[in-house]
Amino acid sequence: MKTVVSGIRPTGNIHLGNYFGAIVNFVKMQHEHQCYFFIADYHSLTTHPTPADLNDNVRKVLVNYLAAGLDPEKSILYRQSDLPETAELYLFLNMNAYIGELQRVASFKDKIRTQPNNVNAGLLTYPTLMAADIIIHKAHMVPVGKDQEQHLEMTRNFATRFNNMYQTPYFPEPIAFSFGEQLVKVPGLDGSTKMSKSENENSCIYLSDEASAIRKKIMRAVSDSGPTEPNQEKPIPIQNLFSLMKIVSKEETLQFFNEQYNECKIRYGDMKKQIAEDMIVFCAPFRERILELESDTAYLQKVLDMGAEKARISAAQTLKEVREIIGFRKL
Ligand code: AMP
Repeated sequence: MKTVVSGIRPTGNIHLGNYFGAIVNFVKMQHEHQCYFFIADYHSLTTHPTPADLNDNVRKVLVNYLAAGLDPEKSILYRQSDLPETAELYLFLNMNAYIGELQRVASFKDKIRTQPNNVNAGLLTYPTLMAADIIIHKAHMVPVGKDQEQHLEMTRNFATRFNNMYQTPYFPEPIAFSFGEQLVKVPGLDGSTKMSKSENENSCIYLSDEASAIRKKIMRAVSDSGPTEPNQEKPIPIQNLFSLMKIVSKEETLQFFNEQYNECKIRYGDMKKQIAEDMIVFCAPFRERILELESDTAYLQKVLDMGAEKARISAAQTLKEVREIIGFRKL
């Protein structure tokens, strides 16, 4: 049995990128491994949420986790800020993280470009906080989407750097994990290659979306005027539609539209209608469970309390040992 850790930032409901990139693996892994799944509320502070929004978004992610099939009896579900040990480990890791390597991270460079007025130190040190989240439980595997590949590489660097510095093989080197052959990247409806709430809210389909919202968003998805030659390579927005169809529709449906495309007969309106209807069928059971769970505050709080209690056992043990290794010892 391996130790598995992963989390999602609370920015609202969970979209299909989060689901297929991460949660689908969480659900499968909880049966086979010791799993820690958290709600990354410290991380979300980089966007300066109001206290009410922060709390509401934590609640939404928890509800979505449970609706997607995470079982609080099987895996340890907790809120990151319920483990203040994470902040202490983050401090230690920051002492051995170099400004240059943090500045070179692709997601940091993106943020400089997209939000020049809020380039805070939390964004720069996102990889050390993520490393702390993972190695605090001495994780072996981290189910994440493809967008997190570079961050995980850095987690490995920070873990080995610590081990080398103190000449002890204390932290395992965690690997990114997906049940499929490759890490997943779910595209957006706006022609971008990644479904992302922070980039464009309308590019996302949420597990909690109702049928009318799904239809509206998919019918507005970016497409073009159609291929002009048989077997033409698909431009990114069109490839995105096919990728979305692949995750929610039947194989023969995908094949049908592929042939239509290759024979230059495709009607994107029909294809979008089909994706929308299949997407509605896919999301409906999640939405139903989300609506059921949403109002049960007592149960949700119980899940968080139970998770915090269990997660702190492992975190407290790690920090006790790490302090000792670093030299914070009795005189
Ligand atoms: P975040 O929303 O950045 O907190 O990401 C939470 C998890 O969802 C991480 O494992 C990401 O890799 C994954 N994720 C987010 N967006 C996508 C996407 N469009 N495709 C695949 N995985 C994603």
